[in-house]
Amino acid sequence: MKKKHWKRHILIIIAILVLMGYVAVKTGLISRVTDIEYDPEILEEAGEWKGFPFAYINDNVPEFGDDEIWTSPQESLEPLDSYGRCGTAVACVGRETMPEGERSSISEIHPTGWKTDKYDFIQNGYLYNRCHLIGYQLTGDEAIDRNLITGTSYMNRDGMIPFENAVAIYVKETGNHVMYRVTPVFRGSELVARGLHIEALSVEDGGKGLAFNVFCYNVQPGVEINYANGKSKLSEDDTLLVLWQEGYLSVYPKLNQKAENASLKRVEASPEDSQAYVINISSGKFHLEGCDSTKGANPWNLKKTFTSREDLIARGYEPCGKCRP
Ligand SMILES: [Zn+2]
Repeated sequence: MKKKHWKRHILIIIAILVLMGYVAVKTGLISRVTDIEYDPEILEEAGEWKGFPFAYINDNVPEFGDDEIWTSPQESLEPLDSYGRCGTAVACVGRETMPEGERSSISEIHPTGWKTDKYDFIQNGYLYNRCHLIGYQLTGDEAIDRNLITGTSYMNRDGMIPFENAVAIYVKETGNHVMYRVTPVFRGSELVARGLHIEALSVEDGGKGLAFNVFCYNVQPGVEINYANGKSKLSEDDTLLVLWQEGYLSVYPKLNQKAENASLKRVEASPEDSQAYVINISSGKFHLEGCDSTKGANPWNLKKTFTSREDLIARGYEPCGKCRP
């Protein structure tokens, strides 16, 4: 009799252990150990968002190793991790990888942290876009879950697209190839990325034609984002927002605290000491409009801005020695 009892107890204990193991794997308790470790140094180097859509990393020099430069067009997308998050996307972009037709719908993809929150001061209303890591215009990737993250309208339009366009223009004009690497940077187990680390290097001329290394902030002015789950609310921060938009600096008055009145009015900065300058985002110099030095520069590196000399210097730009702005 006693022996039989023992056997039954052991069977029950084994059954419980098997069940616990199954639950642990199913709920991700075990598999999460193998998640991609994201580089916290990038966030540290970029620092907090201060009103500019991107920050330079490694002095704007991309960090491709010799064995990471591909000579023929191809693309690599990491598998999703156990949370369903995207890893690094790399492509060697050329004319032959660029699509001809219009993009089809990608609305069936729901990247981690996806929500359909709307704010009336955001263009098109929606806080979030499905952001391609490697843009559709570069490789023609459509609804691929390993290439789409939850990104703010601001990051997409003011952060990513100008860089993506620079690559597209360079490739179209020269017929050369560009190594393009985009890494979403998640903090801990958060479902919404803090931003995108984007690097590009033109292949045939070793980066002479095009090279950059930037971090685009996944933020939306006027909105507070919970990066753990993608939920959002109107920001209570009442500081003046000075924003870089479409190549111009715009100053927004402080946010109205009441949600129903939360329309941001766009006001161009126009104190007496402000005037038009041309910034070269590659050299870090600023010029007066029409300066000869800007004529030889790559047009996609030039941004016109309306602000004060002091503001540009405070943001780390140097005045050109030729036009002496
Ligand atoms: Zn100049």
